[in-house]
Amino acid sequence: MFTSGHTSPNLIAMFATARMRPDQADALLREALEANGQRFTDQRAAVYRFLLGTTEHPTADEVFTAVRADIADISLATVYKALETLVSCNLAVKLSYGDDSARYDARTDDHYHSRCVHCGQVRDVPGEVPAVLPQLHVGDGFRVQGYRVEVIGLCPACAD
Ligand SMILES: [Zn+2]
Ligand SMILES: [Zn+2]
Repeated sequence: MFTSGHTSPNLIAMFATARMRPDQADALLREALEANGQRFTDQRAAVYRFLLGTTEHPTADEVFTAVRADIADISLATVYKALETLVSCNLAVKLSYGDDSARYDARTDDHYHSRCVHCGQVRDVPGEVPAVLPQLHVGDGFRVQGYRVEVIGLCPACAD
């Protein structure tokens, strides 16, 4: 993702991680929702907790399948709207691709992704994002705010 100025300082100080306890995740979610004029709901909490606990960068369909195990009457539309709300509150990042597919990531700090061009699997690239980014000349008047880097190739299963 690119670096932007939208995230509030207190959220930067307590970036969500998969190791967060559910009550901490709920507290972070509640604070972010209320700061954006949105209500805390059990559906949104279930979606956020699932997203925090996975490194798979799931699609809305995959989140729906997982969350439905806990909340039987949740709909795909509700899951989709919850995911979009998380993105608008800077609690998640939406990764969009040219074929109209999208994946969601609860990691909102700068990190790179690898994507398998065969099966679509998206994983985090381990390690730090380089402090010194390439100096690109993108043309007159364009103010660079950051970079998005995606490593594409074949995952181990597809490379066989
Ligand atoms: Zn693959
Ligand atoms: Zn990621």
